[in-house]
Amino acid sequence: MEQQSGVSDQEKMEENMDVLVSTQTVIKRALDKLGYPEQVYELLKDPMRMMRVRIPVRMDDGKVEVFTGYRAQHNDSLGPTKGGVRFHPNVTENEVKALSIWMSLKAGIVDLPYGGGKGGIVCDPRKMSFRELERLSRGYVKAISQIVGPTKDIPAPDVFTNSQIMAWMMDEYSRIREFDSPGFITGKPLVLGGSHGRETATAKGVAIMIREAAKKRNLSLKDARVVIQGFGNAGSFLAKFMNDSGAKVIGISDAYGALYDEDGLDIDYLLDRRDSFGTVTNLFKNTITNKELLELDCDILVPAAVENQITAANADRINANIVVEAANGPTTLDATRILSERGILLVPDVLASAGGVTVSYFEWVQNNQGYYWSEEEVEKKMEEILVRSFENVYRTAATRRVDMRLSAYMVGVRKMAEASRFRGWV
Ligand code: GLU
Repeated sequence: MEQQSGVSDQEKMEENMDVLVSTQTVIKRALDKLGYPEQVYELLKDPMRMMRVRIPVRMDDGKVEVFTGYRAQHNDSLGPTKGGVRFHPNVTENEVKALSIWMSLKAGIVDLPYGGGKGGIVCDPRKMSFRELERLSRGYVKAISQIVGPTKDIPAPDVFTNSQIMAWMMDEYSRIREFDSPGFITGKPLVLGGSHGRETATAKGVAIMIREAAKKRNLSLKDARVVIQGFGNAGSFLAKFMNDSGAKVIGISDAYGALYDEDGLDIDYLLDRRDSFGTVTNLFKNTITNKELLELDCDILVPAAVENQITAANADRINANIVVEAANGPTTLDATRILSERGILLVPDVLASAGGVTVSYFEWVQNNQGYYWSEEEVEKKMEEILVRSFENVYRTAATRRVDMRLSAYMVGVRKMAEASRFRGWV
């Protein structure tokens, strides 16, 4: 069973759920607001390069299965492209394209010398063995090896991929190139050149955004009621951080259902029991649906799962003061407008989830210089960057009188537009 979106097919048809189309709409608005001519939009509306590959994998039963994979490189005017690889049955070409544009925006917002990239493989890793996953990961690198590399395009983890998969991919790339190449990929295990703090970076970044947003709303985090949709890399660590900071996590979910307790859930217990894909609700009898979870009365709602969760169909019933998007693309454009009209403070994905790529950048810098930093050093640098970025987007929204999503796009796209012009591309 897939993520319950709470949206009927009829509603889906009425509202545009194509993440590429909605991303292009906001990119256009941002460039218009910044005064860039049409040709800049023509360049930035789609990735400059999109590769589609077919990956044959020998399965454990001896048969060969052929998987489809993608790698999108949005724009490399500012430096190499950068972004994760997701393994998921619902991966589509348009989704990977949109995700690569979002990576450009994230890099722009936190001011990294990167453009955006993204990869995806249509597969269900929950149904594959460890060895099958290794062969698929190596096959993917072999298929895209010509267009990636430490100074070209640097992959990382995303939905259902992790440090073990990064290790196989790095090993395969090093084997093909015939030299050790830790800077080819980030999110590696510590012993293979990974960085302290990378595994928890996305969640820590979201926690910083929650803290900064709460300050703007004069909301104390002590006993604040938090609802988190998704219990993967972002959602589970975030639940832990919020719990540790004195907030009450009253709801969490996975792809199959959700748990609710108004007195606060026992997060340490749930963390202990979740599987590597974040599944935990199967252990409980009294679950609620993802749809019900999103509509719970709370102070802070964090969608940390997949796209198109808050839509025109349920945005009126969101009962939160602040919505912080830890997932990529969880709120549609219509829903963004409705939340903004209702006075809900929305911290958009391209800002809220930028902690991951920020520490990925630190990992790449450490690999390039061969000198490694302490956890404190990583966290201090990340904190400075994220607080500055939040302020920048918040201030731009206020001074330009735009919603937080448009503001984040304006901040995120500006340098790339400028660099593309200096290079004479537009
Ligand atoms: N996949 C993560 C994201 O969507 C991290 C990408 C990276 O670290 O390069 O931001």
